[in-house]
Amino acid sequence: MTTTPVATTARPFSASELEALRADFPILMQEVNGHPLVYLDSGATSQKPLAVLDAERDYYLHQNAAVHRGAHTLAAEATEMFEEARASVARFVGADDDEIVWTSNATEAINLIAYAISNATAGRGGEAARRFALAPGDEIVVTEMEHHANLLPWQELAARTGAVLRFIPLAGDGTLRLDLLPDLIGERTRIVAFTHVSNVLGIINPVAELVEAAHRAGALVVLDACQSAPHLALDLHASGVDFAVFSGHKMLAPTGIGVLYGRRELLNALPPFLTGGSMITTVTMEGAEYLPAPQRFEAGTQRVSQAIALGAAVDYLSAAGVDRIAAHEERLGQRLVEGLSAIDSVTVLGPGPGRERVGLASFDVAGVHSHDIGQFLDDRGIAIRVGHHCAQPLHRRFGVTSSTRASTYLYTTDSEVDQLLEGVSDAIAFFGAHA
Ligand code: PLP
Repeated sequence: MTTTPVATTARPFSASELEALRADFPILMQEVNGHPLVYLDSGATSQKPLAVLDAERDYYLHQNAAVHRGAHTLAAEATEMFEEARASVARFVGADDDEIVWTSNATEAINLIAYAISNATAGRGGEAARRFALAPGDEIVVTEMEHHANLLPWQELAARTGAVLRFIPLAGDGTLRLDLLPDLIGERTRIVAFTHVSNVLGIINPVAELVEAAHRAGALVVLDACQSAPHLALDLHASGVDFAVFSGHKMLAPTGIGVLYGRRELLNALPPFLTGGSMITTVTMEGAEYLPAPQRFEAGTQRVSQAIALGAAVDYLSAAGVDRIAAHEERLGQRLVEGLSAIDSVTVLGPGPGRERVGLASFDVAGVHSHDIGQFLDDRGIAIRVGHHCAQPLHRRFGVTSSTRASTYLYTTDSEVDQLLEGVSDAIAFFGAHA
């Protein structure tokens, strides 16, 4: 699996290429608080290019019909576009079309897996689903750096089934304690769920090692690819993960569309989570037979325009070159952590410069609350994220309750990173003088 942008030989974007690319994102041209917008919050949600906005609008202008149902032309066209989008996303992440399930977002995708496993534990899904059933004392392993979306669904699944949640702690430098894997992943381990790229630290976890340890123990691997799918080239088949999730809105698509990837044979053995229309072969008053994946997990009227827009988004990313995006962001990420590390009273959470990362870093400023930094920067049109970034245990591990996070994307410039660094220095001087 390609996880190391450092190793990529791809060329970052030239200044003129970047300028041309930015012209596709009209929002980047606007002013905020009297300053040109400097958008450094793409880790929360990305901006959208015209190609994506147009794809969604065109669909409403010309097709707009429920998919997989109607006998009319618009319904047939909408269905074709909906399925073409699925094929684009499948190609983009190295999966087959029927292994891509549409969800509202990554959070829903993880909950879908957890509730489907609950249903299997309750005896639903027959013989095929028995392999997913959890017994009291079975173990679910996560890491200490998970987003709450990849922690709470497992806490709840453990509470429903009597399984035990264990976690891989962090070493002093903020990387995972891989030396503890032999103790943490063993014969009781049934699920290993971890983030590919930390939404707080920006570092890339070693997927291959974790997959190997999980599979040696016979456990299923769930990869949270929310912060990797937008920024790195993924090959899910090659990675060996069993399930993976990501959200469209972080990768140029609108909100309301996410993806659950599952290996075909697993998806077809897993009982459904939501049930209702459009996911069945036959229904009687007593019961129902369910369609194979992906339809068995897509109950109800689907998010057609959002899926089509996500298809347009991955086509846009592919045309820009995912390896080139990774190279661009690796450079920006190093510039960001080098600059932050050089500012007195700033502590970068996790590994500093030199460690492979995406263009994202979080930091603490001694004596200044992250909300004050955020407000100060916002007055200059610089948008960043403050708070715990849905990762309270990780912040607790670093002895802080909140941090300031800057995150880049393919449209971010060196100058924007430099404006952030200058803004942070000025904020420290301002609040220091007013302390
Ligand atoms: N996992 C990670 C690593 C994230 O960064 C996020 C979003 O910030 C999520 C999961 C949840 O994504 P969503 O809120 O789109 O479901």
